[in-house]
Amino acid sequence: MYDYPDIKISGCQKCGQCCAKPNVLILLDRKAQQTIDKSLQDDWKGFPVMKSDKNGCAALDDKSCSIYDIRPFYCRVYPLDIREIDGRLTIISQTCEQLSCRIKDSEKDILKKITDFRKKDPEYFSNLKQLRYILSTDGTSF
Ligand code: SF4
Ligand code: SF4
Repeated sequence: MYDYPDIKISGCQKCGQCCAKPNVLILLDRKAQQTIDKSLQDDWKGFPVMKSDKNGCAALDDKSCSIYDIRPFYCRVYPLDIREIDGRLTIISQTCEQLSCRIKDSEKDILKKITDFRKKDPEYFSNLKQLRYILSTDGTSF
């Protein structure tokens, strides 16, 4: 199984706000589907996601992630919002709810790491694109 890219992010206040959004949608990559306990996983319109409810992600324990070491790719790159535009990966945003996180890697390094990861799990990026499209049609942010 592949390794996750090492994206360096600093300034997280560990407030847990990003994980506590009601019914937060966290898309699961292939590795996460294999390593995270099935009781924490769900299916949303055919997409593999973390289970969540009005209190946020099912893996959130108080303000901490109870599966931090095996957290999905989506959480590892947060607050980066990386999208595929005309086939090219592009960083759209780099701020979290608290506006406190800072990305330590250069944009060029991040895009290289994410591009390498996309080769390892192309289905994740395909799902991400489809999921965003579905959500954009009803105005939901993701
Ligand atoms: S990324 Fe931001 S919102 Fe999430 S826990 Fe850290 S400071 Fe809070
Ligand atoms: S898996 Fe962990 S880091 Fe990701 S949303 Fe859930 S609690 Fe937060």
